[in-house]
Amino acid sequence: MLDMKWIREHADEVQAVAYHKGMELSIAELIAWDDQRRHILQEVEQGRQERNKLSLDIRSLIAKGDHEAAEQLKSRVKDINGKLTTLEEALAEAETQHQQLLMRVPNIVSPDTPIGRSDKDNVEIKRVGEATVFDFEPKDHVALGELHAMIDLPRGVKTAGTRSYYLKGAGVLLHRAVQQLALDLLLDKGFTLLEVPLMARTKMLTNTGFFPLGEDQTYRIAGESKWLVGTSEVPLVSFYSNEIVDAAEPIRLAAASTCFRSEIGSAGRDVHGLYRVHQFAKVEQVVICENSLERSEQLLQEITHNAEELLRQLELPYRVMAVSTGDMSQKTYKQYDIETWMPSRQAYSETHSSSNLLDFQARRSNIRYRDAAGRLQYCFTLNNTAVASPRILIPLLENHQLEDGAIRIPQALRPYMNGLEQLVP
Ligand code: AMP
Repeated sequence: MLDMKWIREHADEVQAVAYHKGMELSIAELIAWDDQRRHILQEVEQGRQERNKLSLDIRSLIAKGDHEAAEQLKSRVKDINGKLTTLEEALAEAETQHQQLLMRVPNIVSPDTPIGRSDKDNVEIKRVGEATVFDFEPKDHVALGELHAMIDLPRGVKTAGTRSYYLKGAGVLLHRAVQQLALDLLLDKGFTLLEVPLMARTKMLTNTGFFPLGEDQTYRIAGESKWLVGTSEVPLVSFYSNEIVDAAEPIRLAAASTCFRSEIGSAGRDVHGLYRVHQFAKVEQVVICENSLERSEQLLQEITHNAEELLRQLELPYRVMAVSTGDMSQKTYKQYDIETWMPSRQAYSETHSSSNLLDFQARRSNIRYRDAAGRLQYCFTLNNTAVASPRILIPLLENHQLEDGAIRIPQALRPYMNGLEQLVP
């Protein structure tokens, strides 16, 4: 959420960002409701003052025994009360409208963010490793999963419908191994691990910028105003909501959690295999820091490098993309996606998403710190995937397959796989 005063002073800039992020939103309408709200509030305050003054006058008239004059004033008070009721209703309506629009205002974007309409306008800034070349006909992860009896899609669909799966045997070991490798890497980098609630209140999803726009992406718990989280970013950031934190050093938090997504806007897209599913596991990095552009940029690089380090440990080829405005969410100021080479897709495809949100979430979540002068300031927040599985199993299985269908386990994963060097069909 941006500050309303700031929005008023930068209306054209904010409107342009909304346009570049492909959002339908009128800043003029927001300002008109803000004007309306302020105007009515002023009238309400004047009415209340007048009523207070009349009440004092009535008391002194009664003390003087002038009951007739007091009665006249009482009838004026009654009129004012009637007017105030109408005004207070109008104020509540203006405040609701204003708040609803304010919650839809996008964060600004960094000067180095590419302007674009979609992910096609993302810009490659770095490539590490080479796309794997095979001297045999490679299998895709679904075929490899069947061969090793470790991925079962038909039974997943039987039990839970489309975009569902079972992992079995070595599939489960790999799924857990990549997460533990990621957690150990983050522990090593000074992150604090949390086991988080997977259900969150509506307010927390709004605070963290997923609502109101992403409601249809999220599964609601029937009969409650609670939802299954699509990412542990929600409970990780909310951990400090309404608190004053010590931001002298960045607060680095990580969680491994299940994530649930309706994928409502993805009908017909990525329906093959494990790429886009309704339920997956993600190790997430969240950083909360002081409100310094420079510091937050360093931290964005840091959490992006953490994910890159993991991909290097998994011996996977990848590239880093500067995400364009059209592929960014409302809350994002600057974003990198990491795309890992997936042989069956003959493409680099997204496996990680790293974002700097400035104070967008902290303002909504009311997370503050005291600066050197003792003044309360909103923090900045950042987040990035460390690893998301089973999506990462796609490049892992496909890039490391051998001609006989065996799968080589990268060195760094072996300690988490009972020392196994290969999965043999
Ligand atoms: P996000 O939290 O949307 O930035 O996504 C972070 C990462 O989670 C993505 O880069 C994917 O690796 C993974 N992911 C997101 N959505 C899905 C999904 N529906 N199925 C599988 N993996 C997903």
